[in-house]
Amino acid sequence: MPVYEYRCQTCDTRFDLRRAVAEADRPAPCPSGHADSRRLLSVFAAGGRTSAASPALGGGGGGGCCGGGCGCGPG
Ligand SMILES: [Zn+2]
Repeated sequence: MPVYEYRCQTCDTRFDLRRAVAEADRPAPCPSGHADSRRLLSVFAAGGRTSAASPALGGGGGGGCCGGGCGCGPG
């Protein structure tokens, strides 16, 4: 079974709990006994994004000088 991370809304304690996937979104009691807890986002949901943008993207250019606008193309 996967391990989910929860945070108690009452005492603000973060704790891990191993439960079935079907029970992941159900309220879990914190170590102090409070039943008001929320499941945090899974660890594998974060990351995986590349911070460095590709130079080919975001420019929106015409592909250089010979795009046809400057007249340096063939002909
Ligand atoms: Zn608590």
